[in-house]
Amino acid sequence: MHTLSSVVFGGLNRLSRKTRIAVMSTATGVHGDNTVFCSLDAASRVALTIDDAPSLAAPLFKQLLDLLKELNVQVSFQVISSYAAKSEEHMALLRRAVAEGHHLVNHSVKDAPCIRCSKEEFRAMLLECQALIDGISPGTAADRWFRPPSGVMSAAMRQVCREEGFRVVLGDAYSDDPHVSGAEWHVRTLLRATEAGSVIIIHCPEVGLRSQTLDVVPKLVAALRGRGLELATVAQHFPLPSQEPIWKGSSLLNLETSNASLVRPLRLP
Ligand SMILES: [Zn+2]
Repeated sequence: MHTLSSVVFGGLNRLSRKTRIAVMSTATGVHGDNTVFCSLDAASRVALTIDDAPSLAAPLFKQLLDLLKELNVQVSFQVISSYAAKSEEHMALLRRAVAEGHHLVNHSVKDAPCIRCSKEEFRAMLLECQALIDGISPGTAADRWFRPPSGVMSAAMRQVCREEGFRVVLGDAYSDDPHVSGAEWHVRTLLRATEAGSVIIIHCPEVGLRSQTLDVVPKLVAALRGRGLELATVAQHFPLPSQEPIWKGSSLLNLETSNASLVRPLRLP
């Protein structure tokens, strides 16, 4: 399998973490002192984050919850509110996720980048998704997290996230799982990028898309535990009060004034 994605992400994950994050931060527009890619304080812990939750195919999301329960792993689910609102079954599965200790992160209303939105359009979507999350998981309302759809942010999005008190989490271990199939390859590529403090990004399984997630998760969890790493949610990985931003001061990241159109998005679905 030699898709462009596999070459790009296979190669990216061979870089040092600091270099990789600098490249990703510049390419995605995800930067600022409310933004995290990994924790430098976690000596033996990583966060596992699973995007685009709940699966539109509810039975696959149920299988994923069953699997995580069996493995005794709590993760952060990045919630797309229109997916959650699809049916009462989808909502019930998200409630179950919270009851089983998983953490919900705002991933906007639909599965599409928001970089062309005005500030107010973006704010409306951000708050609509958050209202759904707060309704399911009210205890977390004071600790709001956002993961930008497609992993890309504009200046308007950065500003709104600050104004609304959101922390933004991307990650430092990603293997472009929507575009590459093959569980073994993903496990290898993610493990190459992962070290203590990492934030790993994968996606919920759908019918005919990312179905390898159900194979990746147990293999990845076993390998991480084999390295002496515990798994945690984003909220556990970055406890309040928020720590010093990791990459503050890097000239590469001072792009607050740059126009979104100048930032070439590195697409992370
Ligand atoms: Zn997504």
